[in-house]
Amino acid sequence: LSIEVHILGSSSATPVFDRHPTSQLIKILHHQYLIDCGEGTQMQLSRYNHKPNKISRIFISHLHGDHFFGLIGLVSTMSLQGRKNPLTIYAPLGLKDILSLQFKYSETILNFPLYIEVVDEASLTTILDKDDHQVECFPLSHRIPCYGYRFTRKQAAPSLIKDRLPENISVQDIIQLKQGHNLVNDEGEVTVYCKDVTQPTQEAVSYAYCSDTIYTPSLSELLKGTTLLYHESTFTKEYESRAQSTFHSTAEQAALVAKNMGVKKLLLGHFSARYKDLSPIQDEARQIFPYSFLAIEGQKFCI
Ligand SMILES: [Zn+2]
Ligand SMILES: [Zn+2]
Repeated sequence: LSIEVHILGSSSATPVFDRHPTSQLIKILHHQYLIDCGEGTQMQLSRYNHKPNKISRIFISHLHGDHFFGLIGLVSTMSLQGRKNPLTIYAPLGLKDILSLQFKYSETILNFPLYIEVVDEASLTTILDKDDHQVECFPLSHRIPCYGYRFTRKQAAPSLIKDRLPENISVQDIIQLKQGHNLVNDEGEVTVYCKDVTQPTQEAVSYAYCSDTIYTPSLSELLKGTTLLYHESTFTKEYESRAQSTFHSTAEQAALVAKNMGVKKLLLGHFSARYKDLSPIQDEARQIFPYSFLAIEGQKFCI
């Protein structure tokens, strides 16, 4: 298991029909990250037995309330629970001012370091790069500055087949092989082919999160190679003009983006309050892209 996406909420704008506003808990290897933090996120974390203090980073798409109104509550709880580990929040410009004001007038002093990183990426940019995983940020097109994030579990170094290695192999040569290079002698001739003495590990896998955005066909090219895509589908196509005027997408448009991106699976979310029954959204997307699923809260999607 490389990446697990646990849906904590996928309602747009207002909480209706027991659906909470947007939030997702991502497990990538042993790291726990939160994407968006709509109102009630800390209750949802508790309902699904997640410990807030295991979350090391939070990625906020934009500053519409349905994506971050839960933040002050969650961060305050982390402090009350005795958190000591630092927390980093990635968000568009303005979040620092908002939180500072809330902390100031509630006289809240956090007992852990809180770092806020401003995202204002104009194109796909790596914002976190670790040995085993990375996070990229990219702009979406919405009424206010809004960003998507892609989480990638990198391909691990090839593993060596010990009994095929030459005797007395040096540490430097082992490093070369683990980096995927052949071994060459002083004359430049290959003495050991990497593929002969190593076995490949699981390929890199990725999860891209796109909410909220007007239909943006160029995302398919930008995020080509993504394994799992979450794309907002606030409306069905009968409300396409409403989607356009509010800078949202329809299920059909989300499916077109997924199909052209070549992903394995599409998660649909950010459902409008006008839909009690969500099946028309899934049906519409499946007409275009059969591997489309509703991101219902409580559900987990694994890569
Ligand atoms: Zn929204
Ligand atoms: Zn929005």
